[in-house]
Amino acid sequence: MPKEKTPRQEMPRQAPEVRRHNFDEVALGYTLDMALAEAGRCLQCKKPGCVPGCPVQVRIPEFIGALRNQDFRTAAAFLKDKNNLPAICGRVCPQESQCEAVCVVGRKDKPVAIGRLERFVADWERQAGVQVPANAPATGKRVAVIGAGPAGLTCAADLARAGYQVTLFEALHAPGGVLMYGIPEFRLPKDIVQAEVDYVLKLGVELRLNSVIGKLGSVNELLGEGYEAIFLGTGAGLPMFMDIPGENLIGVLSANEFLTRNNLMRAYRFPEFDTPIKIGRRVAVVGAGNVAMDASRTALRLGAEEVHIVYRRSREEVPARAEEFENAEEEGVIFDFLTNPVEVLGDEHGGVRGLRVQRQQLGEPDASGRRRPVPIPGSEFEMPVDMVIMALGTRPNPMVFSHGAGLERNRHGTVVAIEETGRTRLERVWAGGDIVTGAATVISAMGAGKRAAADIDAYLRDGATGPWWVE
Ligand code: FAD
Ligand code: SF4
Ligand code: SF4
Repeated sequence: MPKEKTPRQEMPRQAPEVRRHNFDEVALGYTLDMALAEAGRCLQCKKPGCVPGCPVQVRIPEFIGALRNQDFRTAAAFLKDKNNLPAICGRVCPQESQCEAVCVVGRKDKPVAIGRLERFVADWERQAGVQVPANAPATGKRVAVIGAGPAGLTCAADLARAGYQVTLFEALHAPGGVLMYGIPEFRLPKDIVQAEVDYVLKLGVELRLNSVIGKLGSVNELLGEGYEAIFLGTGAGLPMFMDIPGENLIGVLSANEFLTRNNLMRAYRFPEFDTPIKIGRRVAVVGAGNVAMDASRTALRLGAEEVHIVYRRSREEVPARAEEFENAEEEGVIFDFLTNPVEVLGDEHGGVRGLRVQRQQLGEPDASGRRRPVPIPGSEFEMPVDMVIMALGTRPNPMVFSHGAGLERNRHGTVVAIEETGRTRLERVWAGGDIVTGAATVISAMGAGKRAAADIDAYLRDGATGPWWVE
């Protein structure tokens, strides 16, 4: 009889009725047996399809091979060779559209669960004690990295390892960017983010918190202060609104503010932490991306009785990851498809008493390739809600551009930079992550940070060769 194939190992998770009442991590991680079974599914390809699918080119067959041998220390070293934040990536990477999408096993079966194995190895290392590699000899050159999100942390770590003296400027009182203030605890515990930030600092990166570049000093001033290169990784944290009547009422807030209060300032642990958050009984979250899923699931956990996701397109067009959409549905979030808000309705105290919405139908595809929602005349109705959270997307915060003449931006406010290197129009200034692409992913931001670090190193080490910018 032919040997039966080992199925892809499912991730154990908290049950929906339990997890909707707590902020503990939903996905519980593989046991050793599960990790070994899953690692055994990898074919150890000589030409691995999976590696080019990863924006930081993790040495996937090598780390999985070491894991199979139960040599966890070596597995961790292979991971860290390319990825400074593996416990984070193992949890939040959209693996289904990255490394796992091009795993050869996936052609006939479910792909190897690369992200889950990455998480297993990174968690093992954190518990066993993280080893910090020796940096290359000091170059004596200083680089400023602005923004301590995944792009900035990756760029800073790679430059420190290459021997540069790196100062990391962060506007907030904590590093991590969206990893810390946006993604909820139940998907990405903050002690794990902190542990991976600590690793970057142990490489010798100097972190300056509460330092808003553009306010304290400008990009140009930093160049005059002895920094020989600047990397801008300030993300896209400026929320967008609908521009409908009633959006200024108390009880309407952006998903960014709602999640920041909860994640970074730990509002869910009030009064232990002193940031209270007033949660509505009936909450509407507008939008259906990953941020909307996070906001709606957070509202449930804070005690809202009913949470609705109001989305103008249909179930088929939901832009969130399938896994997060499923998690939200399982936990009891109610989805109102083909529904678009036209007005937030106020009560006598300036608060919210409802949302006037209009039914939609799908028309021809728009520029995004998705079918355009078209309002149905006479279909308006009121939804009784007392809190509205707007999760409609974000743009780069323009603060960092103050006095930064020469930084070309496109009409969405993102910085124009060369994809392969991160070079901007301003000589000796590089940029990467959401500030260039608009809201994207952790791993794409990390990939941009990595490519920029390599180009900064080549530029500073060998001197400028060729023109700064080639059309
Ligand atoms: P950010 O993470 O935004 O970091 C930028 C940093 O720069 C911040 O710390 C900010 O405070 C700082 N900064 C800004 N301006 C200044 C200034 N003037 N001076 C100094 N510092 C400044 N992606 C995934 O891959 N998987 C997910 O599951 C996922 N979930 C998400 C959930 C939410 C709620 C959100 C909002 C995003 C999510 N994303 C997810 C997207 C992902 O987090 C971002 O694409 C990624 O964090 C971008 O990284 P970045 O380094 O470019 O920017
Ligand atoms: Fe293993 Fe899949 Fe990568 Fe091949 S493509 S090395 S099977 S993870
Ligand atoms: Fe896959 Fe993300 Fe790990 Fe790269 S970092 S191998 S994309 S899970």
